[in-house]
Amino acid sequence: MPKTYDVLIIGGGATGGGTALDLALRGLRVALVERADLTDGTSGRYHGLLHSGGRYAVRDPESARECIAENRLLRKIVPHGIEDTGGLFIQTPGDDPAYAEKWVAACRACGIETEEISPAQALKQEPFLNPKLQRAFRVPDAACDSFDILTALGAAVQQHGGTVLTDHEVVGLSVAGGKVTGATLRNRRTGEEQFIEAALVVNAAGAWAGQIAAMAGCPLTVRPSKGTMVAMAYRFVNTIINRLHQPGDGDILVPVGTVAVIGTTSVNVADPNDTSIQPWEVQLMLDEGEKMVPGFSQVRALRAWAGVRPLYEEGAGAEGREAKRTFAVLDHAARDGVGGLVTVVGGKFTTYRLMAERAADAVCAQLGVTAPCVTREFRISDFGFRNARSAIRNSQFAIRNHALGHRLEDLEEGRAQDQLICECEIVTRKELEEAVAAHADVAAPWILDDLRRDLRLGMGPCQGGFCGVRAAAILHESAGLDATQATAALADFAQRRWKGQRPLLWGQGLRQALLDEHIYRGILGLDRLTPAP
Ligand SMILES: Cc1cc2nc3c(=O)[nH]c(=O)nc-3n(C[C@H](O)[C@H](O)[C@H](O)COP(=O)(O)OP(=O)(O)OC[C@H]3O[C@@H](n4cnc5c(N)ncnc54)[C@H](O)[C@@H]3O)c2cc1C
Repeated sequence: MPKTYDVLIIGGGATGGGTALDLALRGLRVALVERADLTDGTSGRYHGLLHSGGRYAVRDPESARECIAENRLLRKIVPHGIEDTGGLFIQTPGDDPAYAEKWVAACRACGIETEEISPAQALKQEPFLNPKLQRAFRVPDAACDSFDILTALGAAVQQHGGTVLTDHEVVGLSVAGGKVTGATLRNRRTGEEQFIEAALVVNAAGAWAGQIAAMAGCPLTVRPSKGTMVAMAYRFVNTIINRLHQPGDGDILVPVGTVAVIGTTSVNVADPNDTSIQPWEVQLMLDEGEKMVPGFSQVRALRAWAGVRPLYEEGAGAEGREAKRTFAVLDHAARDGVGGLVTVVGGKFTTYRLMAERAADAVCAQLGVTAPCVTREFRISDFGFRNARSAIRNSQFAIRNHALGHRLEDLEEGRAQDQLICECEIVTRKELEEAVAAHADVAAPWILDDLRRDLRLGMGPCQGGFCGVRAAAILHESAGLDATQATAALADFAQRRWKGQRPLLWGQGLRQALLDEHIYRGILGLDRLTPAP
């Protein structure tokens, strides 16, 4: 007998996670399915900005209004995933001076508070900024940790009776009598397939939503737009910096933990899996970074990665930066004559809760459920933490602010006395073992990458060069992996870390990559122990 749910939600990004929670809180039996790990899609490969809406105020006011409303809400319901950095829009030489007044008026019209400060004040707040900056405005931007937020969302879904199935790919939808009746899932690890029955299926597969809709015979054109970001090995600023001009490439700098992330490009791609990074994209990020922070490109670039925006406008052909950042909820019964399927697509990470609310409203209307949405008041922090540190942050701060010394202080003050596994991100053996114990399938070859999302393992300057080996040894020693499994896990991790280093091979980054290469290939002979992934 197939398992039966009221609603099956496809896609473990913010939109799917939010929709699953909204429906579970309305009393429905839900299953959330994700082909890899939560946040493996765009939600884990984005820029990390909780938008004030300032970026969209001039050209896309609807999206700007959605952003500022949700920005205020998310600060209350998921404070442990947000760092209240604030934001600055700065006019640098070369930016059109006429844009500033237009932008201020547009922000006012959208309800986004702005405060002009003098260039001297801006430089006092952020001393590394371009000393030639001409104008500066404060806005309520913030930095937002999607790993923290999705972990909490997933835990809240489960604690409200929902099921979360990671590593399960939807490979087919069944349609009978003009209605979707369920989905066939393939277990990524075992290859086993199972059918899940559901009264209704929600397609929240982001840039892959067109592929899911096609499984039910519904045409849906999502326009994937790839964006590349580069993490610099230095937290130049404590405030999010935006250029004060029409949105373009490489014009936002986000402080994230110990690093600063510059982004992004916008390249239309045919395949949503295309996250390849071209040399010109990296060069452009460094050049644009120089305009905000002189000397930017001289600092070591740590890692590059790309995500794919799920852009969608019904009936419109706009692509890339021209496309609106609002979202759509599509009832395929009305649109394509196929019942039992609702798609929610587009939007921003910042607006995920609103997208989820609207999708859940559409689901409830079809299923005759009258329970109202309660997610505006429902505090998600409290339900699940990536690691002990996010739990501590949640108990200590309403909204945390990152200080470089915090974790070192924990270690030196004896609050985290233990063997150090990852020096760059200060991960201890106890933390690693606790995170391992929380995983259902420790033997999966990608376990170290899952642990990276839990703990930031391997995300610092060594990019896994030292900590990867140690973590693999601990998997062997304490978690029961045999030598072949632990070696496969290390090889998978090394390959994934290499992917983000490869576009940045010069200077210190090249030295580090060569050192890592010597450790993995020369000392450990990893490539001779495992077939290439
Ligand atoms: C470069 C870049 C920078 C961005 N910066 C910001 C920012 O700073 N702030 C902001 O608010 N927004 C930002 N965004 C936008 C934001 O990241 C996305 O709009 C949002 O994360 C999309 O979430 P989602 O849940 O809809 O899609 P996703 O997070 O992509 O989730 C969809 C999930 O579906 C899964 N899936 C696909 N096919 C299947 C299948 N067959 N079976 C099971 N699962 C499947 C995928 O693995 C994926 O995890 C950025 C986007 C990009 C590309």
